[in-house]
Amino acid sequence: MKNIYGFSLKDLENYFIEIGSKKFHAKQLYDWLYIKKIEHLKEASNISKPLLSKIENDFTTKRLKIVEVQKEEDVRKYLFELEDGEHIEAVLMIHDFGHSVCVSSQVGCNMGCRFCESGRRKKVRNLETYEMVLQVLMIEKDLKERVSHVVVMGIGEPFDNYDNVMKFFTILNEPFGLAIGARHLTVSTCGIVPKIKEFSNFPLQVNLAVSLHAPNNEIRNKIMPINKVYPIEILFRALKEYYKKTNRRLTFEYVLLEGINDSTECAEELAKLVKGLNCYINIIPYNETNNLNLKRTNVVQIMRFYDILKKNNITVTIRKEFGRKISAACGQLRSKKEEL
Ligand code: SAH
Repeated sequence: MKNIYGFSLKDLENYFIEIGSKKFHAKQLYDWLYIKKIEHLKEASNISKPLLSKIENDFTTKRLKIVEVQKEEDVRKYLFELEDGEHIEAVLMIHDFGHSVCVSSQVGCNMGCRFCESGRRKKVRNLETYEMVLQVLMIEKDLKERVSHVVVMGIGEPFDNYDNVMKFFTILNEPFGLAIGARHLTVSTCGIVPKIKEFSNFPLQVNLAVSLHAPNNEIRNKIMPINKVYPIEILFRALKEYYKKTNRRLTFEYVLLEGINDSTECAEELAKLVKGLNCYINIIPYNETNNLNLKRTNVVQIMRFYDILKKNNITVTIRKEFGRKISAACGQLRSKKEEL
């Protein structure tokens, strides 16, 4: 049986047509599932009994299990258990502009970035679309307020699970469902070039963030193995083409690691690298992981780095920090229940 949360409105319309019924039932169902948030199909009281039992035979509405919720001021971290007993985490952040959820896209991750906790466990599998949709829906239900923004920046490399992630965006964006505007959706990649090209043809205006973290290949090779496959010049060629096609501003993420990529020379080199691109740089102070060789850059140097970019007319922000106490910050999520 298929989980119904993996089906777009269009998929459900096709389903109803295929079984010889009417496609408007898809909108009715979307209303029950995403607006009224029912847990059992039998609650969909405006759909006839015989049709409902057919739907119940074909789909499950099984949810994920919330194993634990940790709270800290304006952040909550959810530990979910999947049907096969695997675990993933998602984070809710409460901003003044709304509520954003950071979702995971894989169990484990194969990208091997040195500074990231999520990659300490190799990829076990991709998440199914419904497993991503349910992270958002279940958090929204728990919160009793609308989730306005979603970022795919949790565990996993979303462009290594491309099709499921795109279907996930289509479902979140559906006006008859959660109705989250495409401009409020963001996907972050470590730089899988063929998928960046494919993404430039994706019909929704979802934001793209790229984890850059270094101004040149020498440094990037040391901290991000993916750079050996798609080095900076190849990555930037793809990003320029992406911009030409979509006209959408890019975000670069840049984690500052003491003594590795945080020097004033690095800042100057970074400014040169992105010059002329419509982008902004999001500086992320490094969050502690189990890699004891890495240290967070001190505040003075963070500000120096920031100022150099500013002076070069680069739009730059320092990421607001969320959830370090409960290990819910960038790079700290895991697909394991036990402490490592
Ligand atoms: N695999 C995707 C999605 C992960 S997004 C990607 O690489 O973009 C998570 C963001 O947090 C990425 O920019 C990642 O590089 C960054 N990050 C990873 N470890 C971190 C750490 N320890 N401290 C701060 N940011 C980190």
